[in-house]
Amino acid sequence: EGDLDLLEFAEEFPDGMVAMPALPVLAIVGRPNVGKSALVNRILGRREAVVEDKPGVTRDRVAYKAEWAGRRFTLVDTGGWEPDAAGINAAVAAQAEVAIDLADVVLFVVDSNVGATATDEHVVKLLRRANRPVFLAANKVDDARQEPQSSALWSLGLGEPYPVSALHGRGVADLLDLIMAKMPEVSAVAKQELGGPRRVAILGRPNVGKSSLLNKAAGEERVVVNELAGTTRDPVDEQIELGGKVWTFVDTAGIRKRVHLQQGADFYASLRTSAALEKAEVAVVVLDVTEPISTQDLRIIDLVLESGRALVLAFNKWDLLDDDRRRYLEREIEQDLHHVTWAPRVNISARTGRHLEKLVPALELALESWDTRVPTGKFNAFLAELTASHPHPVRGGKQPRILFGTQAASRPPTFVLFTTGFLDPGYRRYVQRRLREIYGFEGSPIVVNMRVRE
Ligand code: GDP
Repeated sequence: EGDLDLLEFAEEFPDGMVAMPALPVLAIVGRPNVGKSALVNRILGRREAVVEDKPGVTRDRVAYKAEWAGRRFTLVDTGGWEPDAAGINAAVAAQAEVAIDLADVVLFVVDSNVGATATDEHVVKLLRRANRPVFLAANKVDDARQEPQSSALWSLGLGEPYPVSALHGRGVADLLDLIMAKMPEVSAVAKQELGGPRRVAILGRPNVGKSSLLNKAAGEERVVVNELAGTTRDPVDEQIELGGKVWTFVDTAGIRKRVHLQQGADFYASLRTSAALEKAEVAVVVLDVTEPISTQDLRIIDLVLESGRALVLAFNKWDLLDDDRRRYLEREIEQDLHHVTWAPRVNISARTGRHLEKLVPALELALESWDTRVPTGKFNAFLAELTASHPHPVRGGKQPRILFGTQAASRPPTFVLFTTGFLDPGYRRYVQRRLREIYGFEGSPIVVNMRVRE
């Protein structure tokens, strides 16, 4: 049972859910139609139909777990929403900004058949301010005859243009090798040394009170200005002392600056949220109690669940809550948040400071759950008791049995069950429920995977 085993298990997690935070981040930036999606598919090794870069197309996923030459990293596709002609400059600038703030390496893609456009030049100006390696891919070079076209892109001043064909794969492997050589082992933007401050993302839709919360927290307590061992010096993050401990609030720049976009604002908000989650260990999702819980709130919570980060729910503007609304709110929580009943809730007012001191214990509880490791012996004793008192139902004359289990990873706690057949989804949920009953895991998602032994 060494680390190799853990990697092997991690491989099998569904939906790219890998229980290892702080992977380095590669962000892909470029105008619509240059072939970003094709390149993303190529890097992920997906054989399915290539998604085309079409104006107005929105994709939900932004961050993917990727691997090249044995190295794992997070691939962030900033092109999930493609603006029409009028919105291009603003949208591509927003992409570049997210990439600069939150990626370790940026891959800028240009269409070699079109050459450098004014928009490309604008993006390059932004990228050059970034203190990060930037690679320039000249895409759509499908054969050697087209290579000279890519040389024209030297004029962008980003160094050597690498001719690639995302569609046919040409040149992509060589480029990835070069990128890997510049990629840190662990994300520098999410770096945390042992005992260093833990990383918190404050998330929520506009106007729920994120910046008020941040200001109140930073204002009442001392904002840490001196350099601490193990903290990032990233200007988009802030170190704040709360409850006698220093915390890193990630992507506070994203909270403080408001991007005003005519189109695609939702996409950029969710891009920013996903990217901030990559850097964070625990998310505080802020909800506004004066308004009904919305699909946007739920979408943000889903992004946290997808990311596998710990979760705290902060119900803000409690000072404005009257009895009527309060009753509704309770009903809404029951209806809409039944899948995250395990998340600690704090009822706060960023304006008056009410119960802000409860945030720290909630964060600590969530992180402690997130870090939990259940020893294999104890876990198997738990499984033995569970299967004895509540065996799997017989299906078609067969009864799948759990032979053995182990916790393959923490952050979040991820369990693997070795079984003699497929367990019913209902039974897997039962295992999860029992795990929570016994171990709590308040504030942390948990993952239960299964490996069928024939
Ligand atoms: P953000 O977009 O999530 O960062 O939200 P802001 O922090 O800018 O807050 C949006 C508005 O709600 C501002 O007018 C705030 O003053 C107000 N607000 C934030 N928190 C509270 C609160 O706890 N109580 C009340 N009454 N107003 C609040």
